[in-house]
Amino acid sequence: MNFQDNQKKETKTSIAFSKGYAWFLCLNIVCCTWLMLWNIYTPHAHYQSSNLTAFNICIISFAAINLIFYVTLKQSIAKKLYQRLLPAIVLVFSLLWAAILFTLIALYQNTMISLCFMLIILLPATIAFYISGKLLLIFSVPLILAWFCSDVGPWQEFNLLQIAAYFIIMAVIYSARYILLEWYQRSQRSEYEKNLLIQKLTKLAHYDSLTGLYNKSSLATFYHDSIRALEKRQEKLFLIVLDIDFFKQYNDIYGHVAGDECLLKTSQCIENSLRQTSDAAFRFGGEEFVVITHCKDIGQAIKISHRIKANIAAAKIPHQGSEVSSLLTVSQGIAQWQPGMNLKELLEAADKELYKAKRGGRNAISFMK
Ligand code: GH3
Ligand code: MG
Ligand code: MG
Repeated sequence: MNFQDNQKKETKTSIAFSKGYAWFLCLNIVCCTWLMLWNIYTPHAHYQSSNLTAFNICIISFAAINLIFYVTLKQSIAKKLYQRLLPAIVLVFSLLWAAILFTLIALYQNTMISLCFMLIILLPATIAFYISGKLLLIFSVPLILAWFCSDVGPWQEFNLLQIAAYFIIMAVIYSARYILLEWYQRSQRSEYEKNLLIQKLTKLAHYDSLTGLYNKSSLATFYHDSIRALEKRQEKLFLIVLDIDFFKQYNDIYGHVAGDECLLKTSQCIENSLRQTSDAAFRFGGEEFVVITHCKDIGQAIKISHRIKANIAAAKIPHQGSEVSSLLTVSQGIAQWQPGMNLKELLEAADKELYKAKRGGRNAISFMK
């Protein structure tokens, strides 16, 4: 999944909903409360308007209801439904603000006040909805229409300076939106790249880059987790050490690149032989592998070893340099974990068995009796 795919997962409306919506609602409540008080307590009676108070109360209550919804909606279905209604909700806010703007212009009959007021309303909306061009458009169009159709709008008297002011306001709004959008995308991209890097580093820290198996440093963690799991599982823990037979000769005959491919095939055979998710295979180093497995008894562990042997035989990897077969083979040593044993001791016990398997002629399985 690349950065673009990641972006498509979230719609622009849902991002706007999660980022600036609550702030927008609070701002509506604060601004309208101030405007309402200013309207009520203004010393000039002819500037007072009951319509203005009514519109302010409408916005305050509508914003408060929406804020309650925003805070309480936890269920994803209800939240999604609410997000779908967001364009309609923003339109209601915009129409109410347009009514306030229209009333204010009618009261003051002043172009500068109307332009400043429009900017004051549009700028926070730009910050809240910059991510969604659709929401910003829904919010700004009724306001602009209200100003256009008002007593001092260019509709009433054609005035080039007023038209210029309109274009300046639009330029301010849309350039601000462009800058915010760019910041957002840059921060999203760097967040995405950071996560990708963390994923890569985690993979490098825990997995072997050639085979994709766990690496040696993951073994200790897995071993301790496995011992803890034993308390619940009523099973025994076994460690199998595997070593490819005559691998030096394999490299000498087929080359190092073919040797790497052979290690990959062998690791796949080992992984395909494991039964449970709690079992795991590790590349211990060079052409040595380790398997940790939970089994009822040694018989089950030996079965896993036989399955690995059979899968490697079925892979039919030619090995002309082997002294025991014309195909690639492995030797295996199995040790059972005993209470009090640490990882080093368990590895040494399995290694001893591996040594016996090698000495016994290779392509063999040896286990602690
Ligand atoms: P034995 O049957 O006794 O195990 O003999 P062997 O030749 O397999 O054992 P030895 O330990 O002498 O050789 C292991 C060889 O594995 C030596 C080394 O070149 C090769 N080897 C180790 N790591 C890698 C690797 O990452 N890629 C490749 N192609 N070869 C590797
Ligand atoms: Mg070896
Ligand atoms: Mg070997």
